[in-house]
Amino acid sequence: MLDCFNRNINYLRVSVTDRCNFRCTYCMPAEGVTMISHKDILSFDEIFATVKHGVSQGINKVRITGGEPLVRKGIVNLIEMLGNLDGITDLSMTTNGILLPKYAKQLKAAGLMRVNISLDTLDADKFKTITRIGELSDVLKGIEAAKEAGLSPIKLNCVIKKSHNEPDALAVAEFAKKNNLQVRFIHEMNLEKGDFKVVEGGSGGDCKICNRIRLTANGSLKPCLFSDIDYNIRELGIEQAYELALSKKPKTGHKNKTGNFYNIGG
Ligand code: SAM
Ligand code: SF4
Repeated sequence: MLDCFNRNINYLRVSVTDRCNFRCTYCMPAEGVTMISHKDILSFDEIFATVKHGVSQGINKVRITGGEPLVRKGIVNLIEMLGNLDGITDLSMTTNGILLPKYAKQLKAAGLMRVNISLDTLDADKFKTITRIGELSDVLKGIEAAKEAGLSPIKLNCVIKKSHNEPDALAVAEFAKKNNLQVRFIHEMNLEKGDFKVVEGGSGGDCKICNRIRLTANGSLKPCLFSDIDYNIRELGIEQAYELALSKKPKTGHKNKTGNFYNIGG
């Protein structure tokens, strides 16, 4: 489907929860996060119906994200529902990885094709400082589990402060090379300040070729991460929400004062 600037929108990113088992410093405050209330969280049937309509309009690439998607109860069932939907040629997930030892095999069997796993550093102390909660060794186990399950390719999402030449990023690049993984460097962004850059090794952040729209866990279709615009599928109905999201997708991102990475999904 084409938006009003003739960009072909074929990529839907679906946030299935705003909950997370980490509190990464650049993503969430340590405490006092206002969560979406349970009644506002879309059911799997609502998510499925929204993805299905998108697919009928030309979406063929779907990424499940969060919050941490693997903390959503029954997530494997949702993957199975989407895995059986004709027309999706790329079904992926972005995860912090720590629940992959539990879920990787089931996810693969349900139809998940590949994963992006977030890894900013290989220094266990720094990892704890960044995530406030996480253990580096658990993510490394998650990467192994993804490999063993045959989720492929595995990409590492590495958030960088300034450059892919900073020591933590170089170490992650080296680790990726040794383990036959791909790596994408994501400049740390600030939605509120409108501070964003193109993802190195990926396609995000380049407005001219942006092919994506987003669905939040409470049903808002967001045509742009760096904009407050959203169209809620429960309020407007799925078809109209899509029509508006496409026709109002901004030419370039600007600022987002109402959303955060953890509730839009990055
Ligand atoms: N919990 C999962 C994870 O961390 O992979 C999925 C959701 S997370 C919001 C998606 C991606 O957004 C992660 O790779 C994370 O590193 C990135 N992210 C979060 N906050 C960011 C920020 N301020 N700037 C750049 N990337 C960010
Ligand atoms: Fe959670 Fe992912 Fe945000 Fe870290 S980046 S707090 S793992 S949602």
